[in-house]
Amino acid sequence: MLDRFLPLLQGEVRWGWTSLSPAFTLRHEQTEPPQLPLDNPHPIDAGAVLAWYDLHARNLPWRVSPQDRKDGVRPDPYRVWLSEVMLQQTTVAAVKNYFLRFTSLWPTVFDLANAPLDSVLREWAGLGYYARARNLHACAEAVVRDHGGVFPQNSVALQTLPGIGAYTSAAIAAICFDEQIAVLDGNLDRVLARYYALDVPVREAKDELRAALQASVPKRAGDFAQAMMDLGATICAPRNASCLICPLRSDCIATRQGNPLVYPVKPAKAERPVRKGHAFVMTDAAGDVYLQSRPGKGLLAGMTEVPNSDWTADLPDPAYPLPASWRHRGQVIHIFTHFRLELEIWSAVVPPESLGGGWWSEPEALGDEALPTLFRKVLAAAGLD
Ligand code: SF4
Repeated sequence: MLDRFLPLLQGEVRWGWTSLSPAFTLRHEQTEPPQLPLDNPHPIDAGAVLAWYDLHARNLPWRVSPQDRKDGVRPDPYRVWLSEVMLQQTTVAAVKNYFLRFTSLWPTVFDLANAPLDSVLREWAGLGYYARARNLHACAEAVVRDHGGVFPQNSVALQTLPGIGAYTSAAIAAICFDEQIAVLDGNLDRVLARYYALDVPVREAKDELRAALQASVPKRAGDFAQAMMDLGATICAPRNASCLICPLRSDCIATRQGNPLVYPVKPAKAERPVRKGHAFVMTDAAGDVYLQSRPGKGLLAGMTEVPNSDWTADLPDPAYPLPASWRHRGQVIHIFTHFRLELEIWSAVVPPESLGGGWWSEPEALGDEALPTLFRKVLAAAGLD
């Protein structure tokens, strides 16, 4: 597939459309000969993108501005790495405060490596994907232990660290060390799908898009990566494409077609399986809440929870932890990546001495507990928020 796509990107298109794989075609593949210039996709114009970035770069707490970069200021790999891990699957707006809090508590990789894991998990609560927080801590330890506190300076070496995969390593290497490597995230997928009017879901042409982007990466690789991120976040947004002010508009096929929002083509939706269970919120006469730790492995490992049942396809009968006057408080629905969870919420007042293994937390202290969003929703359903 790749060798069929690259000639398109290099302007070597011939009337051989029928030779393209049916799984990867461009929107303008028609029986009628397409009109110029739609049949002649250009590489991304990195110069235009950088010129736009020089004027419009977002001001972000982990970023070195293009002007400062030109003046010789180097990005701090610790801050770039932290921001990239936090930004996975969430937005800049959601991350900013977490980033500022982390960097005020732990200004260097040494500080983070020396922090207790519990504290890191607690500060992470609300960002979701807690495996990422554990990897974050393990990565800081590895950088200190194995690299003297200095992050490796290329994408291949960065990938040897815990929790740093292909995307994060490319982002750090490009932003911090100007490695000329394509940095392709979900925002960029959308921009490129529109630019090339990609007629199949992005996941079916990921390698081709990466190769196309790679061919365009200039020497100012870090600024280019961040410029493309900004473009995807502000100009070529999911529900709005501001093509009139976009530096890519002259060669963008989707804008020429007049309806860029039809891209990227959506994959057929897979049904998300449903799991069901019960959660038991116990308070003592003083209003303290009984909490416990989840197992050290698996979903939400090591986080704090209230006692709850297994989560199964069919709702089990509630197996109350203690005999008490249990009251049904409704249902909490929570969407995980791979399933939808429906928890029935029960609450009761119980004597404190009858439990072991967990701990009692005062209601005012619940905000400091490492409770993931799911169990905060459970407590809210029981009237404890
Ligand atoms: S011209 Fe429009 S559709 Fe094309 S990349 Fe720019 S904003 Fe997106």
